[in-house]
Amino acid sequence: MRKKLVVGNWKMHGNRASNALLLSGLKEAGPWTADVAVCVPFPYITETALALTGTQIAYGSQDCSAHEQGAYTGEVSSAMLADIGCRYAIVGHSERRAYHQESDQLVADKAKAALAHGITPIVCVGETLAEREAGQTEHVVKRQLAAVIHTLTHCIGEIVLAYEPVWAIGTGLTATPEQAQAVHAVLRQQLRAATQKADAMRILYGGSVKADNAALLFAQADIDGGLIGGAALKAADFSAICRAAG
Ligand code: PEP
Repeated sequence: MRKKLVVGNWKMHGNRASNALLLSGLKEAGPWTADVAVCVPFPYITETALALTGTQIAYGSQDCSAHEQGAYTGEVSSAMLADIGCRYAIVGHSERRAYHQESDQLVADKAKAALAHGITPIVCVGETLAEREAGQTEHVVKRQLAAVIHTLTHCIGEIVLAYEPVWAIGTGLTATPEQAQAVHAVLRQQLRAATQKADAMRILYGGSVKADNAALLFAQADIDGGLIGGAALKAADFSAICRAAG
């Protein structure tokens, strides 16, 4: 039985005051049966860590560098993230693939860098609306995951995978539980071919998950929790989603 995981992706939102409110709301709302984490903007990680001390809520980043260290202005290494206690790093979010031209291989290299420092990469895969309409969903997500499998080889079992259809992110459109489950099953099958740990691995769904659709999504056989954007910015909404995963 896989324990569910719900991760909030704050994206580029918040400030010190609003973060403090959100985190204290979450502390009051917990605990939950599921594992819970928040991935926050880099400047706020340390303060988040302090606020979450002694709680069940883990924290992480929304990206990491593929490089170990050196002259890479603006980059943040996994060693640095590990140094400040991050448990997770989201890599390959569709916004980074789209707006920062991140390739499948770069995403895989970032996942490798995170793992090298004991950080669990949350590797995002997902198709655009055009790709779905062209019948390419399976091909696209398998290609994205294949790069990670090829790069991580025997360590692939250590990642968290997130299926996030691009057309459902921040749009209010959600994949139906059946649509999401169908893709999760494909990904699980691909993982099974790569590692004996596939059935213990968590595959999260992301894309306009809300309190009122979370339970049905999380009830699917291969959906092991959620990666939550907009609804992670309000303690009551995020907490309700965490409870739905319980
Ligand atoms: C995300 O950013 O990973 C996401 C799923 O966003 P939203 O929940 O807002 O669609």
